[in-house]
Amino acid sequence: MSPLAPGSTIGILGGGQLGRMLAIAAAQLGFDVCIFTDETDSPASRVAAKTIIGDYLDVAALADFARDVAVVTTEFENVPAQTAEALIAAGARVAPSATALAIAQDRFDEKSFFQSIGIATPPFAAIGSQAELETAVSPMGLPAILKTRRLGYDGRGQIRLMTAADVVGAYERLGAPGILEGFCAFEREVSIIAARGWDGAIVHYDLCENEHEGGILSCTTLPARISDSAQGAALEAVEKVLNAFDYVGVLTIEFFVMPDGSLIANEMAPRVHNSGHWTIEGALTSQFEQHIRAIAGWPLGSAKRVANVEMLNLIGEQADDWLALATESGAHLHLYGKRNARTGRKMGHVTKLKF
Ligand code: AMP
Repeated sequence: MSPLAPGSTIGILGGGQLGRMLAIAAAQLGFDVCIFTDETDSPASRVAAKTIIGDYLDVAALADFARDVAVVTTEFENVPAQTAEALIAAGARVAPSATALAIAQDRFDEKSFFQSIGIATPPFAAIGSQAELETAVSPMGLPAILKTRRLGYDGRGQIRLMTAADVVGAYERLGAPGILEGFCAFEREVSIIAARGWDGAIVHYDLCENEHEGGILSCTTLPARISDSAQGAALEAVEKVLNAFDYVGVLTIEFFVMPDGSLIANEMAPRVHNSGHWTIEGALTSQFEQHIRAIAGWPLGSAKRVANVEMLNLIGEQADDWLALATESGAHLHLYGKRNARTGRKMGHVTKLKF
């Protein structure tokens, strides 16, 4: 595709903080942004040139959106398949592709896809009933994790099965079709973020080391404590995924690092990712600018890291410390403009570079 000229409008599905940071990066490159969201007063719409508020299944509103924008992207993977179809039918160019979104929405399809292209995963089985759960548990053994196939994030929609007693009634407690995964006794968690352009060019960032609290990312540090061979394996995996989808934009894969140094893929996100927020100050091109460059048909920027980095998420009331953080020399404070600090809600983040 020929590069979109500055002044063109980029459409973003979703109004959260990822959309907000994408919109800021797009504005820096001279683009206007139109946000499509079902939420009023969203973090992204407050920094965008235009917002269309509508249901993600409202075909007429989606057609208006498609007419307004040169390319459509998304800040969340749970975009209904019908939304992407309606946009494409209305003539929109959508990146990443509907196929990548569809596979990333379903944990069973995602892990099956990883295996089909030679990327290691935990053992897993699709679970559609309590009887299927009981059949799957015996070869897999305990502990294991039962997750919803769809719509789980930040550790939600998961039940840890530690003992046989936990298995009793677990499918009913989950309340939706599930996937049973063998428990990985990992040493640490890492992610790789990479981008692919319309021309097939790929750039990748250094591996991020991630700590979670209560299933939510709390801290990302770089460099990750990981061998060169593991860094190479992560890169090989993300290249396979990007090429398999003929992907355009930024994509993230999260891995468990096992005691022997091998990597096991947990999940992928067909979008910019929380573990990449450090790239705003810590890399020559941020993941947000990189994504905008990719979908706009621009050359990709350098993903080189410029310092050692620590990124801390501000969850719930942690953001109340904004003044102390703003006072700290060299702490890069980002607040997402969310009106209410509900428990577990990502309110902002702070990045510290170490030279
Ligand atoms: P997820 O929502 O799948 O990203 O899971 C949230 C967190 O739960 C992960 O970041 C891990 O810390 C943990 N987790 C998920 N799946 C497994 C697994 N198969 N074995 C061990 N820990 C897991």
